[in-house]
Amino acid sequence: RVVVVGSFNVDHVWALPALPRPGETLAGRYHTGPGGKGFNQATAAARAGAATSFVCALGEDAGGQLARALAAGDGIDLRDLRSDEPTGTAGIYVDADGRNTIVIGPGANAELSPAFVGEHSQALARARVVLTQLETPVESAEAAFALARAAGALTVLNPAPADAIASGALWALADVITPNETEFCAQLQRHADMRLDPDALAGLADAELHAHCRRLLPHGSVVITLGKSGCFVSHADGALRGDAQACYRVAAAAVRAVDTTGAGDAFNGALAASLARGGDAAFAEHVAYANRYAGLSTERAGAAASMPRDAELKARFG
Ligand code: ADP
Repeated sequence: RVVVVGSFNVDHVWALPALPRPGETLAGRYHTGPGGKGFNQATAAARAGAATSFVCALGEDAGGQLARALAAGDGIDLRDLRSDEPTGTAGIYVDADGRNTIVIGPGANAELSPAFVGEHSQALARARVVLTQLETPVESAEAAFALARAAGALTVLNPAPADAIASGALWALADVITPNETEFCAQLQRHADMRLDPDALAGLADAELHAHCRRLLPHGSVVITLGKSGCFVSHADGALRGDAQACYRVAAAAVRAVDTTGAGDAFNGALAASLARGGDAAFAEHVAYANRYAGLSTERAGAAASMPRDAELKARFG
């Protein structure tokens, strides 16, 4: 079982020729749909084939109803705190070059409490993998990881969004972290007091990147997602998780990407699902699965809606 603890948002997306400037009024093609890093990742884990629980906070409104209906449709075991706050929302502007500006209204997401997480300790104790992000209060993430650790589950932290603060306590409880390039550099500055340019990351030699990863999470594994360059894996000495090498790259899948929104979420949900399936597979095989899964998700528009099913992956990549 995978337990995801995190956010649900209703995304409101506008496609615009250019991003709005102060005082400007623009019109663009609009669509709305489910999102939030937590929900996207839970949807990916469930569609990748894992029994999945999702611990979150929802408002008593249309957004909350949408989340409940979608979770039921995907067979997700929903553990929702019912908040008086509105369900989380995101306003997303996308320009002609695919760049975006995002405004979040956390609403109910900010109400997810350690006490509520504690009420679901039995579900957490049954999990093989517990996955969380930084879009809900860090104390709740800490509570989930503490319970997961106590029960022997693997803890996976997706340290996103980049400007969110991961506490030292949460960092210490993470077995695996999965930043993208921007998030890696942001957390490296915060936790290791080192400045690095995100654009320079993919070009670094493996040994150099490995050394940075070891500074960032000395005790655990680091998986940096590198967009169309796939990802980079770095393990701590003596904890290779079935791999032959302490660090290596995995190439991205050959796909025709049309929308990379939620690619990172697809990667995280699929990685958690594959790790929970376990078997004798080395960590590298789980990462390769997540890479293929995330790659396929970029061939369709949307966040949670674009998550493929395990059978589609098999049909496409064998
Ligand atoms: P984020 O969405 O958090 O910025 P990335 O852009 O690093 O994350 O993408 C996450 C993963 O999605 C990558 O590691 C890769 O597996 C897959 N991916 C993203 N963009 C592409 C692409 N253009 N082609 C193939 N795979 C991609």
